[in-house]
Amino acid sequence: MSSVKVVIKPKVWPWLWRALLDWLVILVSFYAFYRYPHPIVFIISLLIIGTRQHALSILGHDGGHRLISRNRFINDALAGVLGLWPLGTPLDGYRRFHFMHHRNVGTPDDPELIHKKLIPQWKLPFRSLKVTSHLIMDFIGGAVPHVGLIIYLTQPVAFRDTLGPLIMNLSFILVCIYFETWWILALWYGAIFTSFWAVFRMRVWTEHVGTEATHIISATWWQKLIFLPHNTWCHHEHHENTAVPCWALASLRDPQKEMDVASLFRKLSQKH
Ligand SMILES: [Zn+2]
Repeated sequence: MSSVKVVIKPKVWPWLWRALLDWLVILVSFYAFYRYPHPIVFIISLLIIGTRQHALSILGHDGGHRLISRNRFINDALAGVLGLWPLGTPLDGYRRFHFMHHRNVGTPDDPELIHKKLIPQWKLPFRSLKVTSHLIMDFIGGAVPHVGLIIYLTQPVAFRDTLGPLIMNLSFILVCIYFETWWILALWYGAIFTSFWAVFRMRVWTEHVGTEATHIISATWWQKLIFLPHNTWCHHEHHENTAVPCWALASLRDPQKEMDVASLFRKLSQKH
């Protein structure tokens, strides 16, 4: 599965401060709507929370590769509690799906390709009108089948694997019901089924679409902030060096080889 040209020792703190910062932004977004309960504030909070849920899934991905800590319990507990479980994703189910992708990238056994073949939206050419219409659709229910498919593909490998996401989400729901804070549930799960998928899709376009390998892209600060968080724009380096944590990936980049996101999208728009 692994490409291990470079190995960088996992460290908890570089991962943890990123996760805590994402959670802080989420909490501030919840507070903003609590303080100013207006539909526009709700929509802005929903958008921000979705981008941070996506960022947490990227950090969960590091945990899937055991790149948070060499202590397996600490690694898996942090990846689950702060990364994947709040999104309803079981860690081992995610690992099975994701390691299959690493082993088979670009081949018929690549589960990401299986996903892409099931859904016509990934077909080239990439047209800005097509992508814009998908982004709009995401906010009126269009993202639901995609998120459902991710849930199916990352389903738990054993009963034990269900416990973390199940207990965490059930407790969260019950506490919100008890305190009648429906708006918290609406923001959290509403974001998973709308803005989370919207930014997830934008990232996926930059990874393997239109190539059997991995694109080498650079990104602007706002692209990193919105849909390429935690050095996920270094996806090429990740595939080449799966033993390097996300916080160290940018140091492996050869700027001679990279292409900016806008140029990649232009290239994909010409591909037939
Ligand atoms: Zn990976």
